[in-house]
Order: sequence, then structure tokens, then C-alpha cells
Amino acid sequence: MWTSPNEKGPVVVEREALVSHLQALLEADRFKDYGPNGLQVEGRAQVRTVVTGVTASLALIDAAIAEGADTILVHHGLFWRGQDGRVTGWMKQRLARLLANDINLLAYHLPLDAHASLGNNAQWGQRLGLVADARFGDQNLGFIGPAPAGLTLEALGDRVAQTMGRAPVVVEGDGRPLRRVAWCSGGAQGYFEQAIAAGADVFLTGEISEPQAHCARETGAAFLACGHHASERYGVQAVGEHIATQLGLAHTFIDVPNPA
Ligand SMILES: [Zn+2]
Repeated sequence: MWTSPNEKGPVVVEREALVSHLQALLEADRFKDYGPNGLQVEGRAQVRTVVTGVTASLALIDAAIAEGADTILVHHGLFWRGQDGRVTGWMKQRLARLLANDINLLAYHLPLDAHASLGNNAQWGQRLGLVADARFGDQNLGFIGPAPAGLTLEALGDRVAQTMGRAPVVVEGDGRPLRRVAWCSGGAQGYFEQAIAAGADVFLTGEISEPQAHCARETGAAFLACGHHASERYGVQAVGEHIATQLGLAHTFIDVPNPA
């Protein structure tokens, strides 16, 4: 009987080795963040199957259990500054499911946005055909680079819609030619003014709040809100693929759609 090299059986990695690998890869200790990066909920000491997703929601946890995962790696974990700390309601449900199934929950927030090649901003930019030549904003999270030659705001909006599967909210600026494009995934609408100060003619992020529309009209720089969830699907997938390749772990990305 012929046995393919892939039938050696699953690779097993010590959880602590996986966490150390990710901490170093993502330079997690370098960031001031809104919640703990790294291991948030301890499960099995040995890891075989990793599921990645954007948010540690109940739906993702249940999907990971169905997938037979022992480890979940997300961008948005369970614990954030400002929470009241009680394990009730949705928090109880999510934790109960993780603990009952002995699943590790690993979360990387800003380190996963920022990584120069595997992060959300790098991967999102790559899919949109954008190359950064500089960084801006708090902890250098924002990416900025030259606009592809002749790119119009309309064409950029179309590119976003095609690549991401949803039409962006577009606030036009003063109609200037796009020379510099800045982007920062997720809820980075508050970085719009920093992007403009860094020289952006247009800024892409996940969400829009009320002030950004006025800011676009009054400064002349355009603004695109492309979806918080939609813009943050890419980094965790890239990191999942990286650990699958580097460590030999089984990896599946599970997208739990979110209209936000
Ligand atoms: Zn986010």
C-alpha cells in the first residue's frame, strides 16, 4: 500500500511553543493595547488544529468545536479595557464553551494590525494593490503609499467592492487627483486627520463616524469606510497560514459574516 507523505499523522506542537512563536513573530510586547495579547483562555497543552477568525464570538467558537479545533486564534479576543469583569450572559456562554471543550483562545489585536507583511494592513493593502512606503499614526499602525497611476476615487471604490465583496461608504473630498493613499483596518476612523497630516488624498478604514464626513468635505481628502469586519479578515488568515507552513499545524479560517 502506498502512503503519501501527508499521512504521517497530525503534527503536535506544545501550546507554549506556539504562543512564544506568535509573540515573537508579532512583536506583541511592543504594543500598548486595549486588551491582553497572547493566550487569553488556557486549554490543552498540546496543539494540533487551529481555527482562525476575526472575533471570538459564540458562533466562531461553536464552528471551531465542530471543526475539531483545540486552539482558536482571533483578532478580537474576549477581554477589553473597560469591561466590568463579570462572567455573566454572553461572556459566560463563550467561556463555558471554551472551557468545556478545553480550547485555547489566542488573541492578537494591534500586533496583528501592524505586522509588516502578515498584518491586517499589509494584507488588505496587498489585496487592493496598494504598497506602503511609510507609516503614520499611533504606534505606526497606519499605512500610506503612492496611489496606483491614474487611480480615481470611483475606481478605488469599485476595487474595494470587488475585492471585499461589499460596497464601501464613500465620502468625496474636493475631487483632487489621488497621489497618496492611506489605510488602516477596523475602527480607525479617528486616524483620518493623522492620515491627512501624513499626506493622504484618500483614507480607507473599516468604519465611519459622524465627524469624518465633515472632515472630508472641509479638508478635501476623500474617505472610504469598507467594513470593520471585512477589513480585518486578512491578517489572521495570513498568520494562520504562516503557522501551518512553519509549524505544520492544521489550520482553517472560518468567516462568520458581520455587516459591520
Ligand atoms: Zn477591529
